[in-house]
Amino acid sequence: MPTYKLFLLPGDGIGPEVMAEALKTADLLGQIGVAKFETEMGLVGGAAYDSHGKAISDSDMRLAGAADAVLLGAVGGPQWDSVAFDRRPEAGLFRLRKDMDLFANLRPAVCYPALADASSLKREAIESLDLMFVRELTGGIYFGEPKAIIDLGDGRKRAVDTQVYDTHEIERVGRAAFELARKRKNKVTSADKHNVMKSGVLWREVITALHSHEFADVTLEHQLADSLGMQLVRRPTQFDVIVTDNLFGDLLSDVAAMLTGSLGMLPSASLGAPDPTTGKRRALYEPVHGSAPDIAGKGIANPIAMIGSLALCLRYSLGLDEAADKAEQAIANVLAAGLRTADIARDVSAVVSTAEMGAAIRAELRRLLA
Ligand code: NAD
Repeated sequence: MPTYKLFLLPGDGIGPEVMAEALKTADLLGQIGVAKFETEMGLVGGAAYDSHGKAISDSDMRLAGAADAVLLGAVGGPQWDSVAFDRRPEAGLFRLRKDMDLFANLRPAVCYPALADASSLKREAIESLDLMFVRELTGGIYFGEPKAIIDLGDGRKRAVDTQVYDTHEIERVGRAAFELARKRKNKVTSADKHNVMKSGVLWREVITALHSHEFADVTLEHQLADSLGMQLVRRPTQFDVIVTDNLFGDLLSDVAAMLTGSLGMLPSASLGAPDPTTGKRRALYEPVHGSAPDIAGKGIANPIAMIGSLALCLRYSLGLDEAADKAEQAIANVLAAGLRTADIARDVSAVVSTAEMGAAIRAELRRLLA
């Protein structure tokens, strides 16, 4: 049985509550002989700040770098709102992304048939939705220099952000998108604003060249980012893999996410470059949602995004595709059977707790893998 090292960072708020369910799911996979997981637990976010004054320690960064994959719950909360910017809970997340060079952020948006009515779109528009967003995560306008607010005198100011991309940054995220498409429906839609932005002209050029040199077997289409936003709410099932830059990806992946209903349902993966000798990528898996301080400690958080993040880890870091498929199937089956946490329930009298939802998914997974 293969053994993998997972580094767990539960974080703040509901993070530890949902992480407990992912950990029990990993343990189950060990018990039934799929793979053995050696897990270590670290501190990130407010929990780390309260313990040692930093949002993540150097020793936990080393453990993150040495693991096969990192699983993170969530960071943040109002009690840390006045902490200095570089020590805020989010700084832990940013350091992980930056130091591990996690440039490709993957967010699947899948519509579970049992939840189709929870979407703001009509059932027929989102039924069978299964798309993957690939957002460039470490470049572009959030990091480009100059970035400043300049005092012009006379009470006037000027704010500057810089959108900047080099060829290799576009190439590596494009490559990740094409490789993913080959394992899915073999189609990539690349979004840019080449009509008004030079970075968009280069983006389109590089993606087109990469496609013709290395991925001609994959269908490629280009869309303007604004038009893609429109298409996402008009006919989202036309997409398979969407790749775009950091800014457009931030906005558009949130739109895609909400097509499926609750935040508590959405997993994500952030991947680095494959190691030239082992082919292994550095990777961080986390739910899209935050620490949900409003429901923390009540045992009612939805653990599906966290367990779904473990499923992505099984697929993209550990090559355990069958276990990943079955974990996602177990989630779908449990939902089809009518189980609901409060965030996705219509009938509040029939809701289950975090632990009950986790246990039901594990029971179904055990059955599917038997
Ligand atoms: P949030 O995602 O924490 O919560 C938004 C709403 O969704 C809340 O009503 C919450 O109860 C609900 N929700 C979220 N996850 C849920 C789940 N698993 N089950 C049931 N309901 C769920 O976003 P927010 O309220 O804007 O932010 C709260 C804190 O989280 C802030 O400090 C913010 O900075 C931080 N945050 C962290 C991350 C992260 O760790 N990646 C992401 C977003 C926000």
